Amino acid sequence: MLSEIVTLWEQCSIWLGQHAVLPILNFLHITKYTDTSTEIATTLMVGILQLVIIGCLFRPLENLIPAEKWDNRRYARIDFHLTWLMLVGLFPLFAFLIMTPIINYFSGISPTVGDDSIWSMKAQFPWLKNHSWVFFILYYLTYDLVYYWMHRIQHVLPWWWAMHSFHHSQRQMSCWTNDRTNYLDGMAQSFVLAGVGIFWGVSGEEFAWLMLLGELVQNFSHANARIGFGPTVGKIFVSPEFHRLHHMDFVPERPTLHNCNFGQVFAIWDVIFKTALYNEPIHLTGVTGDKMVDIDNDRGIIGVQVESLKRFWGSVTCVDDWRLGGVVFSKNYRPIHMKKPVNGQQQVLKPHVRTDAPLPIHKSSKD
Ligand SMILES: [Zn+2]
Ligand SMILES: [Zn+2]
Repeated sequence: MLSEIVTLWEQCSIWLGQHAVLPILNFLHITKYTDTSTEIATTLMVGILQLVIIGCLFRPLENLIPAEKWDNRRYARIDFHLTWLMLVGLFPLFAFLIMTPIINYFSGISPTVGDDSIWSMKAQFPWLKNHSWVFFILYYLTYDLVYYWMHRIQHVLPWWWAMHSFHHSQRQMSCWTNDRTNYLDGMAQSFVLAGVGIFWGVSGEEFAWLMLLGELVQNFSHANARIGFGPTVGKIFVSPEFHRLHHMDFVPERPTLHNCNFGQVFAIWDVIFKTALYNEPIHLTGVTGDKMVDIDNDRGIIGVQVESLKRFWGSVTCVDDWRLGGVVFSKNYRPIHMKKPVNGQQQVLKPHVRTDAPLPIHKSSKD
């Protein structure tokens, strides 16, 4: 049965590659810059598979056990469009025109040679080649740990937060929110994470499959579903309840509460580095305290990229403000530090308090 599915999958890839991808590559005259059309077709099919899993599994869960009840999905619609654009458009293009050639170059893997670079972990410890499960677990733990620290930096480095804040500006967090990303931010993240793949000696194709797994976990953890993993498993894996707390809006009475739950797949890093938050009622999500970030909700799919890039440019060109820490943005897109030393004293800036009382109905996760 399984081998029949694999054969069918391969046949579909070949057919799609020959009849859809190759004519487009020929038309664009870029055939020589990338891998075979079959591999691009495979990535497209992986994207479609991901859309089917989100649409048929995670989306119904949102109706069945919603964390927040919405009258409509007005603010979630843009995330739905961004996910389609990413999975069957931008990601296959980016993966094969940019990422695969880079990974293959650094790993020393070429389609004709098929060998590892001598300095990768796989090449240094050949034992790993015969114990693929150990290799897989070690690779994934490293990948997730690097992701955790990168994610923490995304929140405290003003120019990176300028872009990452777009992922957080959603007022309705749903299973489509994962691909709500500024594309420059997405590229920066991919390069950091591809570095882990190169370190371990993972091939471009393996990297794409492993990334899909991580993406699916993240689509699930963004779902508007009241699902937690309990006191034990919840300390190991990221659940929708766990990640929803990471997206919580600013709480004026507890101004640092939202600095929590940075993990992607494993919650263990948050537990180890003391950023885990549990047993908290469900909070509203978004960054409504910063009007210049919340403005994303009034923009379309191109407008949101432009807004977050303006914030990025305002921060990256403001050398004084490369200092780590939480910021809000001024009307001219400059970062303003929430904590500022004024006359030797720490002045704490208070962001706007949410007044719109939007659609979600507040409910405790425990009731
Ligand atoms: Zn974040
Ligand atoms: Zn998120």
